[in-house]
Amino acid sequence: MKLPSRSKSYMIPEYSLTGDLLSFLTCNLQYRYQNKGTLPPSKPVQRWFGEFIHGVLEEAYIQWKQENTQFPWDWKEDIRPIEELIDLRLQVRGLYPHDEDLFFSILNQPDSNLTIDDLNEHDHKKLASARAEKAINIWGKYLFPLIDSSELLIKGVRQMPNYDENISRSNYYGINGVVDVLTSMKINKNLEQSTLDNYNNMIIEFLKKDPDFQERISNYSEGDDYEIIIDYKGMKRPPVKMIDSKAEDKWENHKQQILTYSWLRSKQEDAKPIVAGIIFYLNELVPSKEDLVLIKDEINNDLTDVGQKYQDDIDLINNWEEEDKAPELSNEFKIDRSIRIINVDEEEQVNALLKFDSVVANIEDSLIKEMKGCKIQDAWKADSDERTCSACDFRTFCKNNSVKTKDFKIP
Ligand code: SF4
Repeated sequence: MKLPSRSKSYMIPEYSLTGDLLSFLTCNLQYRYQNKGTLPPSKPVQRWFGEFIHGVLEEAYIQWKQENTQFPWDWKEDIRPIEELIDLRLQVRGLYPHDEDLFFSILNQPDSNLTIDDLNEHDHKKLASARAEKAINIWGKYLFPLIDSSELLIKGVRQMPNYDENISRSNYYGINGVVDVLTSMKINKNLEQSTLDNYNNMIIEFLKKDPDFQERISNYSEGDDYEIIIDYKGMKRPPVKMIDSKAEDKWENHKQQILTYSWLRSKQEDAKPIVAGIIFYLNELVPSKEDLVLIKDEINNDLTDVGQKYQDDIDLINNWEEEDKAPELSNEFKIDRSIRIINVDEEEQVNALLKFDSVVANIEDSLIKEMKGCKIQDAWKADSDERTCSACDFRTFCKNNSVKTKDFKIP
């Protein structure tokens, strides 16, 4: 009897929206070293805060569902234990905060008899804590009751762009992402809910004020279910226009991300029509000095879409200097800047997918060049803005580094 031989393993390359698309667009060469070469950044502070705030909000939602703790949550009682838990989880993965971001974890000091009550307010509530507190008490309060599922993995398959059976690694590629939060809504149901809970849901109020969203909703019958994809970002609101052509266009890329997520979600069996996405830019709730410098610049150069109507806040920002204490901006200004509604337009969705295809085509192209023996720096394009290059671990040997490293000395 002839035993059949095992067929050749068939693997398709997988690409993720945040890990690959956004990272490749920041700088191709940096992406190669960090993602394909698994060389993590030496100071992954931006990554730490992003992961921290996602973890805190996820855990806060789980606790709210179990205990239904009323808002506002007390920082010391309700939020700090969650922060410690998430901080320790990140430390296990080698991610540590800067001293000015988070107070050290008391749970991690086995010989210490310190308790949270031994710390004074100034010492313990640092930047990341202040943002976590605002994120929970401002947005969590309205978001948690709307959540249908969180941390939802979505996957899909697309044809490999520019497929050539002699060159390409596969005829398909996989695309995946994790939706932070998926909400399922019925307009009427939520209006009833808001009366029951005795408060108006601020997220729904923002959606009601959005004319594009209202137009989209009007195409559905009353009582129909629809979904909204929610994404948290541990960063400030990006400018709508870029002055530096080398800088990553985060405004556009975030939109592409929501549109691609909406396509992936629409392929799942239990999906309902996805009408919009909401991005929460959580740094806006407590901007750092670095954020304020950028906000000031963007307002004065007409590079931002939200803020111009708040004259008092603009005056405060314009009169503020970097060495001063941060200005007391109004809650309305901060809340307005922290929410962005992206309507899911079918035509734009197709364009977003084509853009993803073209990014995959470029990554595959560079990978194949490298597999054929081309040097890494020749196979991957090195091109980024000064800000990204100055924080890049590879700037000392990168030929296209936009920051001068003449003064660099090996210690
Ligand atoms: S130094 Fe700049 S151009 Fe070079 S790899 Fe890093 S980010 Fe890219």
